[in-house]
Amino acid sequence: MQVIRNKILQSLYDYSNNDEKLITVLDEVAVEFGPQAFPVIFHVLTHLDLSQPEAQEFWQEICLHRLDMSNQLGHNVNLRTAICDYFCSIHKSLQNPKVVEIHVFENTINTAKYDRLTGLYNRAYFDESLIREVARAKRYNTELSVLFLDIDNFKAVNDNHGHLAGDSVLKDMSQAILGEIRAEDIASRYGGEEIVIILPETRKATGLILAERIRELIANLNLQYEGKTIPLTISGGLASFPIDSCDAMELVRFADMALLKAKALGKNNIQSYSPNKRRYVRIDFSPEILVKKISIDEPAESFAAQAKNLSLTGILFRSTSPCFAVGNKIQLQIPFEDCNVSVLLLGTVVRIELTNPGQYEIGVSFLEMDHTCQNEVSQYLLKKLGQKIT
Ligand code: GH3
Ligand code: MG
Ligand code: MG
Repeated sequence: MQVIRNKILQSLYDYSNNDEKLITVLDEVAVEFGPQAFPVIFHVLTHLDLSQPEAQEFWQEICLHRLDMSNQLGHNVNLRTAICDYFCSIHKSLQNPKVVEIHVFENTINTAKYDRLTGLYNRAYFDESLIREVARAKRYNTELSVLFLDIDNFKAVNDNHGHLAGDSVLKDMSQAILGEIRAEDIASRYGGEEIVIILPETRKATGLILAERIRELIANLNLQYEGKTIPLTISGGLASFPIDSCDAMELVRFADMALLKAKALGKNNIQSYSPNKRRYVRIDFSPEILVKKISIDEPAESFAAQAKNLSLTGILFRSTSPCFAVGNKIQLQIPFEDCNVSVLLLGTVVRIELTNPGQYEIGVSFLEMDHTCQNEVSQYLLKKLGQKIT
């Protein structure tokens, strides 16, 4: 569709003063792309959403209407005037059309759709496109994949070369991705240096091939800023409709989970989502952690507690304090001694068990954590397990 739209826009710019040529060229576009071009012609010219047969019929009627108006007025009537008169006076699908130069209108649309730095679509356009594409895939019984990409160690690029260098390579990398994907793929800047690509009519195996091609392309790009080469790598996660999920938001979440796995497995690789229960595997984990109840009413003190086990989704610890209740929100400071890091996490108390008199075991489910924390936890688990977490 974008190709047809661009051709139509180009003809409008090229033949703005030559209606006869413009009509001939638009007819040629319809011959080249078939009748699907007619709704696009009207969408560009009027923003009306017409069905293919309607649009085809209107196009012929409007060309005749223009000749008729020209004969009656004794001079050549502009195609846009004829279109406006047709839709306002005859078909009555326009009531208060606003006359605006097409490049001004297109600029406004583009500002609303595109991310300024990278030239990719923006988050709002992504959200709306994903819902539309999933609905389309359901209607036509086709497959679709979502690829979530994140630049590896991008903080270090900013720290070592400055934010402007970071911006510049982020932009160049995005343009390289745009050059690699198909016209129907929708690449958007999801957040800072996260890019999500909707791959319509793409099953998982094909999505993985495309994702791997993009990963390799970026790893071999010679990105430059002020004469310095700044190498970048990306990691990616892929989830597919309908095998992973039929829900638009869940597909993004699953692709993001697969991305996390790619990060945990050493970065610069692509992983596909798989609903493996080992994600919830628990390991024995017994360091002293710091726990604090989060309460607006009473400021709480941190106290030490003995951890018992840990998974990617939660932790179990022992406490002599009966001050917790299921549903309480708590803050946990967890040291990963072997990795020399300590992470601060938020969680909800989901289980309290009195194991011995005065001794409780408290189960906490982690609240949504950012990538960095999730990375620390999954890397620690991987190290301890010596196996892949999926
Ligand atoms: P990881 O491999 O785990 O992804 O490490 P990372 O350093 O890339 O960490 P993370 O993805 O969590 O953080 C992204 C960083 O990217 C944070 C921020 O400094 C930087 N960043 C995000 N958006 C922009 C941007 O528009 N321009 C620049 N220059 N930096 C950005
Ligand atoms: Mg990131
Ligand atoms: Mg990153």
